[in-house]
Amino acid sequence: MPKPVDETSSPTPQRRKATPNPPFTTPRASGELRANLTSIRDTFSNRHHSLDFAYSHAHYLRNRVLAVGVIFLLLSPLWALVDAVMLPRELLDTTLMGRGLLLAGLACVILLAKLSRERIGRIRLSAGLLLALPAAFYALVLILLPDDEVVRLAGYAFIPFLLVAALSIFPFTIVESLAAGIAMLWLLAFAQMVDGSWLTAQGLEGMWLLASLLVVSMAANHFQLSLLMRVYRQATHDPLTGLLNRGALSLHLEKLQAWRHGEYSEHSTPECAVLMMDIDHFKKINDTHGHSVGDMVLAEFARVLTQQTRPEDCVARYGGEEFVVLLFNADRARAHDVAERIRQAVEQHHFPDHNHQRVPVTTSVGVAGLQDDEAPQQALERADAALYRAKEAGRNRVMAAG
Ligand code: GH3
Ligand code: MG
Ligand code: MG
Repeated sequence: MPKPVDETSSPTPQRRKATPNPPFTTPRASGELRANLTSIRDTFSNRHHSLDFAYSHAHYLRNRVLAVGVIFLLLSPLWALVDAVMLPRELLDTTLMGRGLLLAGLACVILLAKLSRERIGRIRLSAGLLLALPAAFYALVLILLPDDEVVRLAGYAFIPFLLVAALSIFPFTIVESLAAGIAMLWLLAFAQMVDGSWLTAQGLEGMWLLASLLVVSMAANHFQLSLLMRVYRQATHDPLTGLLNRGALSLHLEKLQAWRHGEYSEHSTPECAVLMMDIDHFKKINDTHGHSVGDMVLAEFARVLTQQTRPEDCVARYGGEEFVVLLFNADRARAHDVAERIRQAVEQHHFPDHNHQRVPVTTSVGVAGLQDDEAPQQALERADAALYRAKEAGRNRVMAAG
């Protein structure tokens, strides 16, 4: 798997400036999405998730919050009918007041999720609140009702179990589910102390049931998040090289455009550049050594590109043997240096065939610095035109766009 370049050992090290990172930092194939296999490490917490995946994940979470929020909103008033049958007038007033607060809270959570399309933190908050509100409602009723009347509540003891089961609906990380589950165990313990079943056989049975349910929910979270990561990876990455695919590159270009127009940041945006590369006489490599060696050359070429760029740069396979690098925080001179460094690295790299013999590989590169009033897609077209000129001029060279 490609490794991000060690900046201290790179031939011309690039220093990171104190400028903001772009909102589209690209996951490297060695990152959280390792070769189609996601491990517990990836689903345990979101520490290893790229910002890109975090946005997709948050979008999915938001849809779930909206759906489950509406279900809770509809179920709660229906449940009041059960209270009306089961509880005497004076207790009913207390639960109705709690239910009113719960409904208002749920409406706020739905509104928060609705208004938080691109705000990852707010979406996570809305998911947490969605589970915390019914728990708080139950705790409030337990506190307000006289202890000897608590046994008259019908269906309330079910709330911690319902909420732990609901954890499995969301693509939470294992840590998030564990934290929510522990809170529910506390809630159940509190309810048992109030109703007198704490440390009785019945109480322990309830605890055991809730803990078992929590483990099942965490397993469901793991599989759900793994699946989400796999689908995300398949949709955005090229399977042969592990680089971003063309569709994902287009999305990154759109985000870059939005970002440069100040949608994401009030900071002034640093200079960006586009490199377009095409392997020289690649058809001949296929014809001479076979298609499988051609595939190996493509994968190895991607590795060289990844080594020669920084983690925040965006490296994509544009088509067959064409690649694009989007350099962040690089003026035209620096972009030209990086392109020349890549060209030399490719020329010197040992691309092996099946007998470990060296396959000579060179690349031509077109470079275009992003102009102030220019769409990234236009810069890509200029880089493509420069690449065409590099080919015409004899290949294995870097050509700057006009
Ligand atoms: P030039 O220097 O002008 O770029 O010549 P070229 O031979 O590299 O360009 P050309 O467009 O004629 O050939 C590209 C070849 O790349 C043709 C196609 O079969 C091959 N190719 C495209 N995708 C793959 C792939 O995934 N694996 C392999 N092995 N070959 C591929
Ligand atoms: Mg080509
Ligand atoms: Mg070619």
